[in-house]
Amino acid sequence: MSAQHANQVVGIIGGGQLAQMLARAGKDLGARCIVLDPNPDSCARSDAELIVAPYTDADALADLAARCDVVTYEFENVPARVTDALAGRVAVCPNPQALRVAQDRLNERTMFADLGIGTPVYRTVDSIADLIDALDQIGAPALLKARTLGYDGKGQVLVSDIDHAEDSWNTLGKVPAILDAFVSFARELSIVAARSAAGQIEFYPLSENVHRGGILRVSKAPARGVSGQLEAQAREAATSILEHLNYVGVLAVEFFQIGAGDDAHLVANEIAPRVHNTGHWTIEGAQTSQFANHMRSAMGLELGPTTATGHSAMVNIIGDEPRPGALQAVPQAHVHMYGKSSRPGRKIGHVTLNAPTTTELDALLERFTRVVG
Ligand code: AMP
Repeated sequence: MSAQHANQVVGIIGGGQLAQMLARAGKDLGARCIVLDPNPDSCARSDAELIVAPYTDADALADLAARCDVVTYEFENVPARVTDALAGRVAVCPNPQALRVAQDRLNERTMFADLGIGTPVYRTVDSIADLIDALDQIGAPALLKARTLGYDGKGQVLVSDIDHAEDSWNTLGKVPAILDAFVSFARELSIVAARSAAGQIEFYPLSENVHRGGILRVSKAPARGVSGQLEAQAREAATSILEHLNYVGVLAVEFFQIGAGDDAHLVANEIAPRVHNTGHWTIEGAQTSQFANHMRSAMGLELGPTTATGHSAMVNIIGDEPRPGALQAVPQAHVHMYGKSSRPGRKIGHVTLNAPTTTELDALLERFTRVVG
């Protein structure tokens, strides 16, 4: 590491578990992190200095800009006012254009189309009349998704048939939306990739993800039975997005795999312009973690190698704390509790299991699931 990269101060907007893990990775690189979050109990306070203020607080943003070499973020719904206030004072990465795309499902889908990346069939919905037209064209069931502010399955409604159009439109809150055809996918896959300031791009192997109720439960990586062609399709999509956005940092692209074997192909659902839950396995399961590579790119450093060191499974701990000792009952489990209080549907920690073979990993996962329930 050259002198210019040592002792860097990295600002992070948002103080949740992603910021906490970024700040830990930053420490290993000799960097110091300052986190901006309105919540004085933000879990990232364990590893970073915390500025407690609303995200849009002008004084807090000026303070952050003055004290940091670069500012990044841990969630995509950073208000434009925040990046506008930082612009010209301090480098922001990934750049605000990436945020504008990721904050609005329609912008995201338009970018995918411009780049030739396949997506589920969808229509834009701004009124109940649009919704009825869209259901006529796409059919039901279909998913009505708010264009902005959705996460972990929030901000979307399953429209079971056209008779439920009005209910669904009211339930979503009559907000600008897209209607997605319901994809009968073989499985969900994601790619986590990183691009450095110098334009170096590295990819982690595809991860296979299981969601329930719109929330990620388990990721397994490297995903099994991925053909070279499928891996290449994911890498091509990620590369075109990274280059199109002149992106610096870690990016995730979530896909649905349609079909199996030689007929399998991917359609892109959405991007996350940040470190991603489906990349948490990289802390113990890859040569360089997604957190280290995000920090390395923000700090202007070369990216580290992304090769998986074996087979990994990451299990989210959601809602309640498991009974004492349960998480530790499987000696090979790497337990990450974020220091957040329990709440239904809230991610309060994760566990990663690693093994040299898929058979051993499956046995570990089965044992872990039996113990934790
Ligand atoms: P999203 O908020 O778009 O990431 O959606 C959350 C989860 O809902 C996804 O991970 C899928 O499990 C499911 N989902 C989203 N869009 C579709 C779709 N068009 N067809 C089927 N399932 C979907």
